[in-house]
Amino acid sequence: MIQIALYGKGGIGKSTVSANLSAALADLNKRVLQVGCDPKHDSTRLLLGGAVIPTVLDYMRETPGEAQQLEALVFEGYRSTACVEAGGPKPGIGCAGRGILSSFEVLKRLGLRASSFDVVLYDVLGDVVCGGFAVPLRKEYADAVFLVTSGEYMALYAANNILRGIRNFEDTNPRVAGIIFNSRGFFAEEERVFAFSRAVGLPVLSSIPRDEVFSQAEKAGKTLAEAFPSSASAGIFRELAVYVETLEKDRSLLHPANPLGDLELEALVLGRRERVCMKPFTTAPATDEKTGTELCSLCQEKGPSAEIPSEIPETKSAGTPEEVPTQSPTPLPSRPPLYGCAFSGAATATFQVSDAATVLHGPRSCTHITADALACSFLRGGGINAGEVKQVPGLLPTDMEEEDVIFGGIEKLERKIEEALSAGWQTVFVVSTCPGGIIGDDVKRATSRVETRFPGARVIPVPVEGVLTGDFSTGLLEGYKRVADLIDPSVTPEKGLVNIIGERSFSLREEEHFRTIEGLIKKLGYGVNCRFLKGADTLSLRSFKKAEINMLACDDPETRALQAYLSDRFGLEFFELPFPVGFRESSLWVKALTARLLPGEDPSPLLEEQEELYRAGVVKYAPQLSGKRVLVVSYTEDIGWVLDTIRDLGMEIVKVGISVSFFGRGSPGLLSCEAFPVERDYTDEKRARDVRILMPDLVLSNYAPSVPEDGVHYDTIPFSPQVGFLSGLELAKRWSTLLRLPVTEGWKYDGGDES
Ligand code: SF4
Repeated sequence: MIQIALYGKGGIGKSTVSANLSAALADLNKRVLQVGCDPKHDSTRLLLGGAVIPTVLDYMRETPGEAQQLEALVFEGYRSTACVEAGGPKPGIGCAGRGILSSFEVLKRLGLRASSFDVVLYDVLGDVVCGGFAVPLRKEYADAVFLVTSGEYMALYAANNILRGIRNFEDTNPRVAGIIFNSRGFFAEEERVFAFSRAVGLPVLSSIPRDEVFSQAEKAGKTLAEAFPSSASAGIFRELAVYVETLEKDRSLLHPANPLGDLELEALVLGRRERVCMKPFTTAPATDEKTGTELCSLCQEKGPSAEIPSEIPETKSAGTPEEVPTQSPTPLPSRPPLYGCAFSGAATATFQVSDAATVLHGPRSCTHITADALACSFLRGGGINAGEVKQVPGLLPTDMEEEDVIFGGIEKLERKIEEALSAGWQTVFVVSTCPGGIIGDDVKRATSRVETRFPGARVIPVPVEGVLTGDFSTGLLEGYKRVADLIDPSVTPEKGLVNIIGERSFSLREEEHFRTIEGLIKKLGYGVNCRFLKGADTLSLRSFKKAEINMLACDDPETRALQAYLSDRFGLEFFELPFPVGFRESSLWVKALTARLLPGEDPSPLLEEQEELYRAGVVKYAPQLSGKRVLVVSYTEDIGWVLDTIRDLGMEIVKVGISVSFFGRGSPGLLSCEAFPVERDYTDEKRARDVRILMPDLVLSNYAPSVPEDGVHYDTIPFSPQVGFLSGLELAKRWSTLLRLPVTEGWKYDGGDES
């Protein structure tokens, strides 16, 4: 038994060659299975009297898994040859390569066994060189590969590419049978093909001339074996069939794959001896430092062109690996690491518009993770914590499946958008995952098509395709930009209103922070117009520009990027200080805000009121905490409010250690003039040493040590601290409880019955 694969460029005649070879093999009394692996699905037509059979992929799409049967896919052709067509999606949609993979899996699952045949012939489209089309090259499928080619450059280029693919799969055994030359009848074609065969070290097994009998047989829907058995061309296929039979017994006839380099191939086929050098239009030419000669921008070699060696190696020895010059790897451009994906980021933005739905276009694996995280954070942050369970805003996944990847997921996407609009959503965002991008689903076209069917509705595609577009932050910003499409630019500002920009989407305390800030703003006589985007709805977004000023919740890169975008696009006014943390920062914030919104007004009453509250808290907790020694360890220098709190409570800072971290934020000089030791590049070892030597009562840190700290109380510096004047009191309350507990925790006998 032998499995062979015939590869060739589309349109080269490989299906005709395959069918004629199968017929010739059948005439040798071989049990033959021919599998067409080309979306054109006409490989077996000549074996079937011109009939077109259902394809595996169509069948798989239309028939539920449990009802599928092998008999529906395998058809009997000339002299009992078994015929199968894998099929594929429409041109330009979906992923044909994935289709080939799926077809093979289906045939295997339904019980098609290669071992039931003498010869299995795969007829494969060879100019698509993605992983799917390379499946028949794998060892478990093809024992021998035949290259079908004419003398045209592109046909030889495809043949050479196939050799490259084979080399990727070749283990120790050679697997190339040779070349089948299917002539197109142009000048010097034969010389080209033979020159190629010598250069790659493969025999030309058959030369098939242009012959009228082929078109006559084709018109009759037959192979030459059936229609013109005594023609010279039919004789060529008989010889080839005998060769396959010999190959079945003698694998030593197979050859290793030795593809040519692109330039070698060009030189061989086109006779081009010089490399054409290209210069980018706008870039100034690089020059050789010594001679001043202009360098080619691509190859960075001297001169207008570089000579290609005129000698083309006849054959490369199978046993000698090509010499690869040793090069150091190209260093990656410096960039921060990627976190999450743009799909997840974009959905996080659009999800927050409470009266809009977001259609998540992708497989369950992608959409489930994101949807679950968003729903949980929504319920914990806004619903359950606030004592009222709100409806989770619309997240509608398309749940792409294998067949959508093969045939394209656009129809499913359109149906899902329609479903959202029919359910009453007037605004729908569409966010796509990597698979949608990889198979080229045209989301923008799909959204405009649906929009025309639902007058008045807004369907807004967010231009992201999973990690192909970038990381979480990239997607978040893209999502924000598309949400900003809902802002009415003609609205004019009104006195007494502010917008809040950039509240964290995953923080559980955002509502609490918002209430604190809203309370302070109210005391200045202002109200909140719109939160971009916590709890925003399309109405508040439309009137976004009513606000007199825009306030920033955070000072992180995403919020600053959003600020820059909104300010550029809508010419907005911003108050630059983010939400304050701690008494000192909050006092400065209130003073600056009053000066900005209410020039000439005195913020003292508000400040005095807050100071009174803060002092009362300090008086309450100081008795338990005064005199306690504190070691502070942090990866950020942005901890002024923590240090203020420690001092206000009469505690002693024994040292501040600043550790190295990617997440850290430096505030150069902030700690330099303080009256306690500050040590930078602080490590866990130094921390363990200081705990031993300085013997603090409390270690405050924003990360847990890698070495357990025994004999000392430990507390975290919150990642998302309470905002406003009273941030420190939250910590003071915790410390006063903590320091009253024994240093060593553990189960204690409570006086009950121990049994
Ligand atoms: S990176 Fe791509 S595959 Fe992974 S979750 Fe994001 S969209 Fe899905």
